[in-house]
Amino acid sequence: MGFTTLGLNDRIIKGVHAAGYTVPTPIQSMAIQPALEGRDIIGCAQTGTGKTAAFVLPVLQRLMSEEESNPKSRAIRALVVTPTRELAHQVNEAVTTYGKFINLRSVCIYGGVGMENQLHRLRRGADIVIATPGRLLDHMERGSISLKEIRILVLDEADRMLDMGFINDVRRIIKATPAERQTMLFSATISKEITDLASSILRNPHSVEVGEKRNPAETIKQHFYSINQESKADLLLHMIEAEKMQSVLVFSRTKHGADKICKRLDRSGIKAAAIHSNRSQSQRQRSLDGFKEGKFRVLVATDIAARGIDVDGISHVINYDIPHDAESYIHRIGRTGRAGANGTSCTFVSRDERHHLKRIEHFTRTQVELEPFPGFVPRKREAHSMPDKPARHKPGFPIAKRAFGEKKGHGKKNGFGKKKRRSGSVVFSTTPRKRKGNPSQKIDSFSSDHSWSNY
Ligand code: AMP
Repeated sequence: MGFTTLGLNDRIIKGVHAAGYTVPTPIQSMAIQPALEGRDIIGCAQTGTGKTAAFVLPVLQRLMSEEESNPKSRAIRALVVTPTRELAHQVNEAVTTYGKFINLRSVCIYGGVGMENQLHRLRRGADIVIATPGRLLDHMERGSISLKEIRILVLDEADRMLDMGFINDVRRIIKATPAERQTMLFSATISKEITDLASSILRNPHSVEVGEKRNPAETIKQHFYSINQESKADLLLHMIEAEKMQSVLVFSRTKHGADKICKRLDRSGIKAAAIHSNRSQSQRQRSLDGFKEGKFRVLVATDIAARGIDVDGISHVINYDIPHDAESYIHRIGRTGRAGANGTSCTFVSRDERHHLKRIEHFTRTQVELEPFPGFVPRKREAHSMPDKPARHKPGFPIAKRAFGEKKGHGKKNGFGKKKRRSGSVVFSTTPRKRKGNPSQKIDSFSSDHSWSNY
């Protein structure tokens, strides 16, 4: 896909091609179109991802269209605030390079150098100012710059600006710009401070994110509950009601599981819809729309189906089954706590899912606290695969679990057709049987891990 598909003007594309770029980087593909539409943007991206062009190109195009409709205006209409003068320089160079074939002027303003040159350039007039916070405030105090006509404000490397102690300066600058503006905020990390800032200055932002993300947003409160597999459904119902959850996304590992959870919720009077790859596109869309509109309180999804879920205001993500890879965990819980809002994630962990927890800990480099949920404290020992119904227990014999689909009998054949017996008691093998028939029981994911559980 080239730049032509992003809705950019020919003269801007010419500038981009002159810079030697033919294919947009992922952040450019994700951010340019919504930015051209005038949407606020929150971008999580590091230097090196092409983020500068992701905001500079829409800025140029939006100002250029205005310029064409009002050729006389030469007020500062776009402001880019950066933490360092090096970055300010880089952004200014990008503006000059990509804007080679359009008639817009930019001025770069930073401290550590004399004022005269900057004052002279400002007097000549500029459409775009790229500035570091301290020197920009100096100019504002002197009256040599006015931000009253700003239409687009960009905060670049916002996390660095906050680390450098510029938060109050940044807030003063933002206050001097009109409330009616487009704001784009880019940051390599999304900390609590960044989300606080974002929620106070962005309006319904489009969120873009590139690169490997190891840490979930700090606005997400994460819980991990130790629970028996067969008690998960009860815990889910209890939590939704007891905690008055309103907009809940539940993740199931299998399509069959998703349907089953959904039916169970419906039976208990909690309106729910399922979304997975066995459902048609129109069914999925109906579920998603219903969830967005609040018709369904719960959406039960598998990982694949969840890839397209971009719903604002999800209060809770519940991992009914723990994901088998840590990236999916980050992706799943990232459906809540978006753009500065608070969110909660709850992950149900049965005994035989605990090793997946280790992967999450390793990936996020954090130690997870596995808590019991009051009233749902798991039994001390739980065998590997938990069936729906509690296994029958003969007094005097150890508890043996029958895997789903196994027939009652005096001994069970293991995967190789041999009966296993140990000291008179029956020991059931946990080797998963090959499933015939219902394909909906298959895992709805790209993963090649074919161990499976039932609900
Ligand atoms: P940035 O993350 O904006 O600092 O950009 C990192 C580097 O990628 C800079 O040297 C840019 O010139 C370059 N760059 C930006 N966009 C593209 C693109 N679409 N194709 C190739 N290089 C690019």
